[in-house]
Formats: sequence, structure tokens, C-alpha cells
Amino acid sequence: MKTVKFGGTSLADAAMMKQCAEILKADDERRFVIVSAPGKRFKDDIKVTDLLYQIHDECENGKDFLPTLEKVKERFAGIVKDLGIDFDLDGEFAKIAEDIHPSCNQSWLVSRGEYLNAKIFAEYMGWPFVDAKDLLIFKENHLLSHHLTYKNAGNILEEYSHAVIPGFYGADTHGNITTFTRGGSDVTGAVIARSVGASLYENWTDVDGVMTADPRVIDHPKQVRYISYRELRELSYMGASVLHEDAILPIRSTGIPIEIHNTMDPQAPSTRIAAAYPVDLEKHPVTGIAGKKGFSNLQIEMALMNTQVGFGARILEIIAENGISYEHTPTSIDIISVIAETSYFEHCREKIIMEIDREFHPDKLFIEDGMALVTVVGEGISTNVGVAAKVLQIISNAGINVRMIDAGCSELNIIIGVNETDYEKTIKALYEGLHEYL
Ligand code: ASP
Repeated sequence: MKTVKFGGTSLADAAMMKQCAEILKADDERRFVIVSAPGKRFKDDIKVTDLLYQIHDECENGKDFLPTLEKVKERFAGIVKDLGIDFDLDGEFAKIAEDIHPSCNQSWLVSRGEYLNAKIFAEYMGWPFVDAKDLLIFKENHLLSHHLTYKNAGNILEEYSHAVIPGFYGADTHGNITTFTRGGSDVTGAVIARSVGASLYENWTDVDGVMTADPRVIDHPKQVRYISYRELRELSYMGASVLHEDAILPIRSTGIPIEIHNTMDPQAPSTRIAAAYPVDLEKHPVTGIAGKKGFSNLQIEMALMNTQVGFGARILEIIAENGISYEHTPTSIDIISVIAETSYFEHCREKIIMEIDREFHPDKLFIEDGMALVTVVGEGISTNVGVAAKVLQIISNAGINVRMIDAGCSELNIIIGVNETDYEKTIKALYEGLHEYL
């Protein structure tokens, strides 16, 4: 049995919904369907979820939110009319409008896109609608209670042969709706696949699958046909945006594979994500290249730092006390660097500098912005001699200055820090230079 998730563009209007219905009908094993809210129909269109966030902002700031709510209603009214189904939108929207107030639960409000889209799609398919609030159990810290959820959702869904389930949200034990972070319907798909013991999780979206490099930087990059769970997690964490980075976690220990398919071209080759794959790692040690801009380097230089036991731990403590989640901490004898997203330093830049200065009086202490991180990911990197050398050679041949290198012990990836201004150039050089390895 397969669990299927359709993304927002795949369900952006009635014609797309009909296409999704055809995909479901083409395979009897596709039995549990997770849906996103209607996404963009054209480049400058606004996603329903974005409109719902806007309504919450307007309401909180005492502005009139009704015109924006009307826009959401019009989106759904168009879909209902073009699908030719009977659906009480007026009733649904009257209830939603009644419950919107300045201190209403934001997660509840923004999840209404998935809720309504799933109800409409269920009606069109003639399949039962099962509300995600009854399936996915969140803790009060907004994190999913994984094992409770698998048991609970598994028990409930056992009663159904087919179901349409809204993505993106669940509820805590008091019944308060809680959402994942943006793009979280991918995670719902994985959670449901695990709960029902699916043999496959199909994720239908608006691209052919995972690409070996960012298509915004590389024109028509080669598609990745097979990728391991951990490679995909690395790539999506570092900017490859096909699948939510947390969608792997619920299923990787069970071995349920994920396939990424293009709704507009169902026959096109997909990307298959699994624990292992049939690729010759000697010939293709690298699976993909990804990267992100917007990092800063907090650098502390102090003679004889190496002899002070606990120095690094204290620096990281200061970082944690200021709410910063860091990415890398390269060190040398007298220097320790902490690389983190620039946005984390926004509110505590001076404070951190002052705290470190007061405690250690280092010889040099500064935060330098403008770093981009680029990662080369591949299961074959650890078993093939010379991949790291090749990566550095490509970068140096392109005249790009390397600001940081982190190859990690897992050797699943090599991460290079470069100036943001060199970001695109680095990705292009690596894609060209590593082509034979991909
Ligand atoms: N609709 C939500 C978002 O735009 C969740 C999703 O589509 O996965 O982030």
C-alpha cells in the first residue's frame, strides 16, 4: 500500500486536482493521500497559506482582515465550482470568520488551507476525510510526539481502506492545533506512511525530482535518480528545496522508500530515496551540490588557547545562552571560529562580543558576515581517494578564496565556506568540475 502526498502547486486549481485524481485512480495501491493547501497557479500568485498568515498579522495589528479572508474564500470557491461538487463553503467560512480574533491560535488559522483543501478533494474523490488533528499528536513544545502518533494514527487509519488527510498540522493533547514549519506537509506524508506501514511514500510535486545542483544557478542540472536518506537530508538542510528536511526522519529507520514525482509529467523518471541504492559509488561518488548564503563567522584568537581546558566549551555555552544554533566550529591552535546563520547574531551581536571579551580578553575577537556555505554530498566520498582534493582544486582553479573547510568524520559531505559574492561561481565551478563524478 502506498501513501501519496500532493504539494500545493499540484492542487492549485481544479484542473490540477483532476490530474491528481487521475494519478490516484491509476494505481489501486495509492490509498492514503496527504494534501497541501492550494499553492501558486502562476509566478506572482499568492499561496493560500501565505494569505492565511497575512490574515493573522492583520488581525493581530487591528487591521481589517475580511478582504484577505474573502480572497481565500474566492480561491476555494473557484476550485469547488470548477470541480462541479456540492460543498458548503459559506458554512465553513462563517465558522472560520467567527473564530478569528487577535489572540487566536496562529497554527489553527494557517492550517485552514490544508483542512479545506483536503475536505474538497475528499468530496471530489468520494473518499473519506480524516482530520490530521485526530492523527498527529504534538507535544507542548510544538514538536511531534513521534511514537504516540504512529500508534494513534495507525490505529485510527486501520479502519479505513482509503482516506484524504490534510498535511502540515496536528494537535497537542489539549486539542490545540499545531503546525510543522513551512512545507511541513512533506513531514505529514512520511508520518502517515510510517503509521500505516506503507511500502512506498510517493511525493508528487512540480519538478521531476531532486537535482544534482540548484536549478536557479545551474541551467537544467542533471537529475538525481537514486539518493540515500542521509544524503538527501544533508542536501535539503543546505538548500535543496524539493523535500522538507525533516521528512526523512519518520521513515528512515523503517526503510520505506520515498519517490519524488512530477504531477505535470507522471511518466517522467522520478528520484528514489532509500537507505541504499544501485549506483556504482566508485564511478559516482558525488550525488549533489547545494549551498546557502547568509552565514557569519565569530572568530576568537588567543595565544595558548590550546592549553586552557574548557575554553571551547565555555564559548559554546555563551553561544547557546544567546539562543544561537551553530553550524561549524573549526579550530586551530590559537583560533576558534563559530559559524552560524547571520540572522542569529542580529539581536545579540554586541552582547556576545562583550561577554567573550569580559571573560577572556582575547587577542582578536570579531564577527565577520557575508559567508556562503557550499556542500558536496555523496555516499562515495568516504571510499574514494581524491574527491576532497578534486573539490579544492576546482575551487582554486576558479580563483575562489576558501574561507573555511569542514569535511566531518562521516565523510558524507565536504563543506566549503566562501564569500557570498563567490557563491554562484563556486556552485558553477563545482558542477562543471565534478560532472564525471555525478
Ligand atoms: N501549506 C504549507 C506551506 O505553504 C505547508 C505545505 O504546503 O507543506 O508551507
